[in-house]
Amino acid sequence: MTINRRALLGGIAAAPAALAMGFAGRGWAAAAEGVTAVKPVIHSFRLGNARITVLLDGHLPLGTQLFNAYDPAKAEEVLAQGLHRMQNDSLQIPVNGYLVERGDKKLLIDTGTAQLMGPGLGALGDGLAAAGVVPESIDTVLLTHIHPDHSGGLITGDGSAAFANAELVVAQREWDFWHDDAIMAGVPESSRGFFDMARRSVAPYANRLQLLQGEGEAAPGFTALELPGHTPGHTGFMLEAGGEGLLFWGDIIHSAALQFALPEWTIAFDTDPAQTVETRRKMLDRASADNLLVTGAHLDFPALGRVLRQGEAFAYQAAPWQFGL
Ligand SMILES: [Zn+2]
Repeated sequence: MTINRRALLGGIAAAPAALAMGFAGRGWAAAAEGVTAVKPVIHSFRLGNARITVLLDGHLPLGTQLFNAYDPAKAEEVLAQGLHRMQNDSLQIPVNGYLVERGDKKLLIDTGTAQLMGPGLGALGDGLAAAGVVPESIDTVLLTHIHPDHSGGLITGDGSAAFANAELVVAQREWDFWHDDAIMAGVPESSRGFFDMARRSVAPYANRLQLLQGEGEAAPGFTALELPGHTPGHTGFMLEAGGEGLLFWGDIIHSAALQFALPEWTIAFDTDPAQTVETRRKMLDRASADNLLVTGAHLDFPALGRVLRQGEAFAYQAAPWQFGL
């Protein structure tokens, strides 16, 4: 795959609006009103020889203004067929991370926001504690991409590593993008915060880093899948655990309410919107054709289900809740 530099910068140019309305501004502040602290919410289940715990970091509002080419009539039509509802012109988007335990190994996939996105999020660390796991015991952190809702939890308030003994695994292409001074210099001033946050969150791991080259083993049992578009090195991870499989697809979907039915709808944070749509369609096609069990960072907690094809579009079917762990 070659990265289209113009498309990349074009996508990033859309970010100032997103920053003003979402990542750094009123969107989250408004959502945070009345929220004092989020409580940890976790769901553990067994898959083959793995124990997986979904860790809910919290919710953030995705304002309708963040969708490229938003069409209120279409949105209304799709929402009328489901149970998601708008609140103040926003949809509530969950942020999930995962703990995967196999044998004596403990691995995280994404790390939540920590303090980067306000008091309505940041519960992932407490969720980990609720699962009985101390940060020092994490061996590996797999990152789907280096956005603050995925990498924020890598560091503590003072900028040091939250996971003192963990190796960080992320795509080389993702690492290179966020560390490219020329790309950073070419984006609007107001978008540089993304680069600052990305660099700060991964910096303490620079000496214990595995940079993924294309597809292949990311960690024992995990195969990396290149899913570019949302960010250049956006990566999914397929877990094979004792004959059973689960795909962690990162940000293939941001809004389950809208994007299964309207997969062409991209958001301001998609670095390359055209590639985002192409990758999303391919992934949803494959997931439905192969009847994959999937989970995503922004699917509704506990975020486990499968994809159904509906003509040119798709639908999501949540998996039954499993008790017993
Ligand atoms: Zn995300």
